[in-house]
Amino acid sequence: MSGTRCGAPTRGGAACRFPADRCPHEGHARVRLERPAPEAAPSPAGAIRERDLRALGWWLIEEILAGRVTPPAASAVNRMMHTLLQIGPTPEADDLALQEVALRGLLMHGVPPRTDAEWRRAAEVFDDEALAEFRRWARAERDDLEEGGEYAGRRTSPA
Ligand SMILES: [Zn+2]
Repeated sequence: MSGTRCGAPTRGGAACRFPADRCPHEGHARVRLERPAPEAAPSPAGAIRERDLRALGWWLIEEILAGRVTPPAASAVNRMMHTLLQIGPTPEADDLALQEVALRGLLMHGVPPRTDAEWRRAAEVFDDEALAEFRRWARAERDDLEEGGEYAGRRTSPA
């Protein structure tokens, strides 16, 4: 995926592996000139950083069709993508999913988020209307606690 290779298609269909400035094939120079500069190639860095296999897949397709990736490199990336799919989500993703399940469980029982982290997670998962409702629960709970009433810690239904 380096921009310094010739990369022009050879008779066998593979991308030429000579360094661009030392490629002995005259026809390849013309192909390189007609091709957009390698700097213009989109970078997969974002897709990799975000662990976004879908974006990486589209990037790979673009690169293959543009002849900027050698077939061995393309199949290596492709194999790794398959492997990553088989491994499944990262532990962080599992963690987030578990947090969401726990949060939904609490909310189902009328318990508002309790920590800053839970509020942040709720803000990612729910819309503004739902969040406003949770804040109402939290307020009602706080009021209960301040009154020291027998419902302390439990939600008073707004309905
Ligand atoms: Zn060449």
